[in-house]
Amino acid sequence: MLTIEEAIARILSACRTTEVANVGLHDALGLCLAEDVVAPYGLPEFANSVMDGYAACAADLAGASAATEKALPLIGESRAGATPAALTPGTTMRIFTGAPIPQGADAVVMQEDVRVANQHVHFKDAPRSLAFVRMQGSDVAQGATVLRAGAMVHAGEIGLLASLGFSRVPVHKRPRVAILSTGDELRDVESERRPFTVVNSNAYALAALVREADAEPWVLPRVADDAEAIAEQIRIGLSADLLLSSGGVSVGDYDMVQDAYKRAHVSLDFWRVAMKPGKPLMFGKGGADGRTPVLGLPGNPASAMVTFELFARPAIRTMLGTATPMRPRVLVELTHSHSHAEGRVELARASLDLGDPYLRATLRENQTSGALSSMVGTDALVILPAEDKSFQEGQILEALMIRPPNSAQFRR
Ligand code: AMP
Ligand code: MG
Repeated sequence: MLTIEEAIARILSACRTTEVANVGLHDALGLCLAEDVVAPYGLPEFANSVMDGYAACAADLAGASAATEKALPLIGESRAGATPAALTPGTTMRIFTGAPIPQGADAVVMQEDVRVANQHVHFKDAPRSLAFVRMQGSDVAQGATVLRAGAMVHAGEIGLLASLGFSRVPVHKRPRVAILSTGDELRDVESERRPFTVVNSNAYALAALVREADAEPWVLPRVADDAEAIAEQIRIGLSADLLLSSGGVSVGDYDMVQDAYKRAHVSLDFWRVAMKPGKPLMFGKGGADGRTPVLGLPGNPASAMVTFELFARPAIRTMLGTATPMRPRVLVELTHSHSHAEGRVELARASLDLGDPYLRATLRENQTSGALSSMVGTDALVILPAEDKSFQEGQILEALMIRPPNSAQFRR
């Protein structure tokens, strides 16, 4: 049986980045750049004023003080969006925030710090050169590599790219992830309740997880526990970048997924991982070039979601092109004692609260693999090592952070 780390390594080594596409800036959000981005020009593009005030040459105001004010004739203005005249030596010019610094000026004095009378501005301080001036290229230098290939595009990146004149950028496409639910007992959410059937909730939960991972879900028609029927949908789903199935991976008489893999020519890499929840977990490769990854997740809803987090999400993120596909590992402090069966590492669902210095983790009461309610309010998966049986209140453990602590719970 593989360890979690071995399983992740095997899966990630099978994942290739998706094709590159030039997309409009709005559509780049959440995707990774496929190339480095070099600034074609500097930012700001021109020297401009930080303040509303008066532009002057610092040398003309040397020695100004409250006792000995210096007065300069006011000879015009510089406003945003207009080309200012040059500043003649020994004069001053009205200037507004963001307006270009006129040629000949090298400092701006805040309007609060001057007195204006008879077309003259009286200065009671000597500004240093470049006071309240944003220099051309001071934020971003021309020719600087501002973003690296693999950088995830967030709002800040989008603003910067727009400032630098990029309306389209090369990114790795959103991976398409096929989702196949298997089980004789499944019914659709819209259908009437029938005895001894369960709603195919995995299709919904997994599609949502795929979206959260910045990929595009493709939900295939659910199938019964029939190896050929499963194989047929697997063949279709193999045109995706990643195929996820749920259910039918244990060793029961009706667990047909392994057989279906064979029929669909998916070569099986492994089918068990030493972890709880989710011991049965299949991984293989298939499709036209034999390189499309296929993950057979367990059917139990909580197991399916936890194994998605551990294995499918990093696979998707690797395809997106990021070098950091894993959820962040953080240290958490347990808020209560807990015990678990030794022998397998457990990923315990937990809610997080802010704490000092550690985040505080409270394990969800019901950790069974079918308990879907336990996935609501789960902010982290706390790693309970296989060799320990009991855990104490206040004990520090590692956890995978799924989302930030609920700040509404922050009471201090
Ligand atoms: P299996 O992995 O097929 O043995 O299923 C384990 C448990 O998960 C059973 O109780 C199934 O009814 C349940 N299950 C399997 N697939 C789904 C699904 N798509 N949605 C909700 N529950 C499921
Ligand atoms: Mg089943």
